[in-house]
Amino acid sequence: MNQKKFDIAIIGGGMVGASLALLLAEQKPNWQIALLEAQPFADADQIQFQPSFDARSTAIAQGSVEILRELGVWESLAKHATAISQVHVSDAGHFMGGLIDANTYDLDAVGYVIPNAWIGRVLLAQLRTKTNIHLSAPVRVEKLISQQVGAQLIVKAGDDVFELNTKLAVVADGGDSPLRKSLGIDSNTKDYGQTAVIANIAYSEAHKGVAYERFTAQGPLALLPLGESATAKESALVLTLPRDQSADIVELSDEEFLQHLQTRFGHRLGKFTRVSQRHAYELKLVTASEQIRSHIVLVGNAAHFLHPVAGQGFNLSLRDCVCLVDALIQGEASGKKMGELSVLQNYLDRQALDQTLTIEFSDKLVRMFSSSSLPLIALRHLGFVGLDLLPAVKSQFAAQTMGTAGAKFL
Ligand SMILES: Cc1cc2nc3c(=O)[nH]c(=O)nc-3n(C[C@H](O)[C@H](O)[C@H](O)COP(=O)(O)OP(=O)(O)OC[C@H]3O[C@@H](n4cnc5c(N)ncnc54)[C@H](O)[C@@H]3O)c2cc1C
Repeated sequence: MNQKKFDIAIIGGGMVGASLALLLAEQKPNWQIALLEAQPFADADQIQFQPSFDARSTAIAQGSVEILRELGVWESLAKHATAISQVHVSDAGHFMGGLIDANTYDLDAVGYVIPNAWIGRVLLAQLRTKTNIHLSAPVRVEKLISQQVGAQLIVKAGDDVFELNTKLAVVADGGDSPLRKSLGIDSNTKDYGQTAVIANIAYSEAHKGVAYERFTAQGPLALLPLGESATAKESALVLTLPRDQSADIVELSDEEFLQHLQTRFGHRLGKFTRVSQRHAYELKLVTASEQIRSHIVLVGNAAHFLHPVAGQGFNLSLRDCVCLVDALIQGEASGKKMGELSVLQNYLDRQALDQTLTIEFSDKLVRMFSSSSLPLIALRHLGFVGLDLLPAVKSQFAAQTMGTAGAKFL
């Protein structure tokens, strides 16, 4: 990277940093944008490991599909996207359950499931076509220094260290966010004491496009349909476990693991036959106590890291990015400086309700459905009754699941 002055520097080329770069490139081809990533970017024809673009799959809500379509990447993403026709929500050991059906909302699908590796490949390929995006990897931003107008980045590239100046620095360096900490921004952490184990699972019956959210005494479990058709017999598993049990379960033999899963899930998909390599993620709710400072904004996991069971983290961040870009464009149109605090405050004010609703929705689901306390069990059964019988409860759940609650772009 020869150029060292940019309008915007995005630190972290994960799912959110890469999506934001594309949104900016699409809408403001005259802004010069640096995207700095600590891991090497894959060659054009390769899928390579990066923290975001790993073995997981992501449930993309219908609202996010519209955003990705605008970005010109949906057609490519759709090649490996599985349509979710229904979401089946149930509570193990009880007959209560609820169904969100795409037909009810006149939609082709409630959402889609896409392997993260494919999302990474498509985003990167599109970024490479943009002349105002300057990709730099592997480089690590060591320091972010706020300045009177703009910010300075100290960047390490191998043995070299260089300075980079930008009018706006976007921190998208993930849930741990070393840069958030180095800026002295506190975070509020609620540790769920749970670990998510992810793997791909094969079974004997076709999934028919149904995604399952099953709440069990050990925590929630999600099975998201994979494969190019509804007759496929494979799903992406997110299995939540109390943290002290997770190591033992990850280390079970494949056969024992499948047996454990079958006991927790039941036989709605027939017999579980195969499991891929398993990966574990510790689950917490982490929210940054400040998301904006003059010429600095935090996005993605660096701003809010959510429990994955409701599949909201990336979808919410995508809506944040749309709103941020819109606020920056509005700021420019009204003669304000790039990254000025009032412009960033406008973004945050507009997104605050969506963030609060989505974070609360995910958190409440986890707390209510991971508990064995009797009042909470009673409450969740009422919740299921509501989900099935009360249109208002059901439509709020559906709107959140489809990524249309609080979204202003639709
Ligand atoms: C098991 C699981 C399942 C999930 N499923 C869903 C789902 O179905 N739907 C959904 O909406 N969300 C889901 N999520 C949430 C989603 O994965 C996150 O919202 C998303 O990955 C956040 O991306 P990010 O870019 O903010 O952070 P990250 O993915 O952590 O990326 C941060 C990037 O920054 C880079 N970086 C870090 N420090 C530096 C530095 N100093 N300099 C340069 N680069 C740096 C890293 O290398 C990395 O590439 C799930 C999460 C988990 C854990």
